[in-house]
Amino acid sequence: AKAAGKDTIRFFDPAMQEAVSAQLRLEEDIRRGLQAEEFMPYLQPQLDARGRVLGAEVLARWQHPQRGLLTPGVFIEVAEQAGMVEQIDLQMLYQACHQLALWRREPATASLSLAVNLSARLLYQPDFIDQLLHILAQSGANPQRLKLELTETILIDDMSVAIARMHQLREHGIRFSIDDFGTGYSSLAYLQKLPLDQLKIDQSFVRDMIEDEHSLAIIRAICALADSLQLEVIAEGVETEAQHAMLQDIGCGYFQGYLFGRPMPLDEFERLLMANQPK
Ligand code: C2E
Ligand code: CA
Ligand code: CA
Ligand code: CA
Repeated sequence: AKAAGKDTIRFFDPAMQEAVSAQLRLEEDIRRGLQAEEFMPYLQPQLDARGRVLGAEVLARWQHPQRGLLTPGVFIEVAEQAGMVEQIDLQMLYQACHQLALWRREPATASLSLAVNLSARLLYQPDFIDQLLHILAQSGANPQRLKLELTETILIDDMSVAIARMHQLREHGIRFSIDDFGTGYSSLAYLQKLPLDQLKIDQSFVRDMIEDEHSLAIIRAICALADSLQLEVIAEGVETEAQHAMLQDIGCGYFQGYLFGRPMPLDEFERLLMANQPK
């Protein structure tokens, strides 16, 4: 197949034809699902060093009428290619802000924060700032309780635009975390230019830290870097007590992972909060 000549009518390769039409069907289905508001936030708890739940990361789930609950692995890439991930992100932001506004009314939940994943496509959309400020104002959420998770690769696309937008949002109190930190290829110099609050250690390093000294060394370096730049550092993908203990030892301040809770629906998260109340 590598040597396909110009007279090969590749489009009629049945396997490829099938893959193309499967993708188109999925696109169409995502479009329908967005319209029907089938995408909803699952919340995964984020804890501090004392074990208090400070908030959650919002992870998109698709409650599909036929296929059941779908995780982003099934739909995010196709949504990105089809220019629909912005809509998913906006629906997550809308629902997150709505929830923050409800929590704001009760002293026990008023200080909880939510971290929402932001795609490059949405950050670079010209009216993004207006859209987000509108969602915040309309919902009545406190912008200081909203954190946006960006990956390093997003920032490289057009760094000066990204920096300008981040500063603008920062003025309104919104906070920023760099997701999957340590896996990007960008220079560290950009860290000083960005209005950041948090680095999020990629879960691959956490997974391997017990057996692999390189992963452990990277985690130590990230924590030292965060410390000197006065940024928070959170570890994700924490699954075992051994990982948790070692991360605490290194000075990592915040934690997220199956050890503390899987991504869960809102009502389940609220039950977990009740159980987590200090005695
Ligand atoms: P991510 O932002 O790096 O999110 C972390 C992923 O790790 C989540 O997968 C989460 O469920 C999973 N995870 C959490 N704790 C553990 C653990 O202890 N062990 C293991 N093995 N995994 C853990 P999920 O929910 O399937 O999301 C996958 C990716 O999809 C996310 O990676 C993020 O890049 C993307 N995504 C999710 N929601 C959204 C969204 O609303 N908008 C955008 N643009 N992307 C999203
Ligand atoms: Ca994330
Ligand atoms: Ca991550
Ligand atoms: Ca990731």
